[in-house]
Amino acid sequence: MSMKATVGVYARYSDDSQNPMSVEDQIRRALDYVGRLGIDAIKVVRFIDQDMSGYKTREAYARPAYNSMLKAWDAGEFDILVTDEFSRLGRNPRQQLEILERLDSTRVRLICADGIDSASSGSRMALGIKGVMAQEESRGTSHRVKRGMFGQLVRGYMMAAPAFGYRAERHYDAGRAIGTSWEIVPEQAKIVERMYEMRHAGAAFDKIARWLNEAGVATPRDGRLWRAANVQRMLSNPVYRGEVFWTEESLDPSSVHGKSSRQHVFERAHLRIVADELWHAVQSGKVSRSGYGGGRLAYSGVLTCGHCGNLLSSSAKGKAYACGSCNANRLAGDPHISAVPTISVAGLHEVLAFALERVFDEERIEALRARLRERLAQGADGELAELRNNRDRLTKAGQQLLRLICQREQPDDLLDEEYARNAKSLADMERQIKALEATKISVARRDIVAQLDVDPRALAEKLLDGKLPPEHLRAVLAKLFPKFVFLGRESRFIAHFEITFAPGAAVAWLSNSAPIIDERVVIRVKLIGSARRPVEWQVVEESVEIGDQSSASQGHEPKVDECGEMPA
Ligand SMILES: [Zn+2]
Repeated sequence: MSMKATVGVYARYSDDSQNPMSVEDQIRRALDYVGRLGIDAIKVVRFIDQDMSGYKTREAYARPAYNSMLKAWDAGEFDILVTDEFSRLGRNPRQQLEILERLDSTRVRLICADGIDSASSGSRMALGIKGVMAQEESRGTSHRVKRGMFGQLVRGYMMAAPAFGYRAERHYDAGRAIGTSWEIVPEQAKIVERMYEMRHAGAAFDKIARWLNEAGVATPRDGRLWRAANVQRMLSNPVYRGEVFWTEESLDPSSVHGKSSRQHVFERAHLRIVADELWHAVQSGKVSRSGYGGGRLAYSGVLTCGHCGNLLSSSAKGKAYACGSCNANRLAGDPHISAVPTISVAGLHEVLAFALERVFDEERIEALRARLRERLAQGADGELAELRNNRDRLTKAGQQLLRLICQREQPDDLLDEEYARNAKSLADMERQIKALEATKISVARRDIVAQLDVDPRALAEKLLDGKLPPEHLRAVLAKLFPKFVFLGRESRFIAHFEITFAPGAAVAWLSNSAPIIDERVVIRVKLIGSARRPVEWQVVEESVEIGDQSSASQGHEPKVDECGEMPA
């Protein structure tokens, strides 16, 4: 089985190596090694540094090929980076960490002919431990890498591989690559325009994909076919109306603290291919087909399957959500799945409306405000205490994840991702603690005051009035509901849900400030639909638990066995 990939090879000659191979030998050894792994290098980009030490910081950072390799990496110019041994990349812990962080935040796979392969969990551990040793270094570096990427965007460059319709152009200053910009490819731009028009006229994503495949249009990554999901993702990319979004940290529901989820918009007017009106019409068109009267709720990416843990996706022409992976397993003959977990959008809407009303009753609002006032009174010291608490919790969670990763025999992407996310949050937390220790000035004061000022009861209306663009709504829902699990059915008319709600994230969103209160409310409800049509819904509360993040995240794993055995 061979896999096609663009390969970057890095080689460096130095006498400090225990294995002073010539660069030609290094390259040959590295390429032979990937060849033996069944990887077919359709393109090879070489980065060669002559006679440089990989250790001393000043020299290490003056390696020109190494620097071009990092830029090419950021510009998405290769899928796999290969070298004959890991230490060629650098012995300096800061540099090793830079590599680790890039591995965590991009899809590039690192293969070293001395046996390290970032795609295998064992090697990731080996790399991860090096990262732990360099922990002291990490904060500064992580911050710098992010600032570096942000800075490139501010300077007008682009950080990702070009989307369909564009090509990358590198810019040089005195022979050194200083950044990459995108330019429109006119023939492709015409196809992009046509895709928007087709969608606007009501064409389904798979129909557009079929049209592209039949017309022989190459995908941005050669050699693959267009699929409905590619088309959908592509049409929602704001770059086609000339804007680039950069989210600091992530839309990560686990990082409800800190100033980490600010979104920045960069104007790239010269990249515009379609008019704002057409772009927005296509986004809303996506949900007007959902069948929910006037509503524009986007549960994609929010709702998970209690049976297998995967995300549910839209089905029945948008009238329901179903688990694609349970469906695939059932078709493959998995005897544990008697029926594919499916739930109607109308029912989901009832559950969500009920949950929103329930979590913000008088008592909960008062409790939340009391915590906010308490934080206000504590000033910087209270903030510091909470940050330290969060840091300890994240540290513990990281150790737990590391243990789990070690115990696995097979690589587990989800665990790896979670570990990377945790490490990022931890680094962010450390940075905030340091800043606060140095200044003793409460940065949260303004945010707390703003959050005391909003009326949480406005939340349901603001979310459900249909005015938010779906991509924003999805991002907001993911923050407000770190977990929204469809546990399964008890009978044809009765379904169970477990919803984890973050009240602190809700008041933060309403007041457009950074989350302060790290609290979770876990609600279990039963949704009962009438047998007669039109369906009448009833939502019954089964339990409500309140706790901070650490306690709420334990002991609430969906009971897989229980719902797996439920009849449809
Ligand atoms: Zn499932």
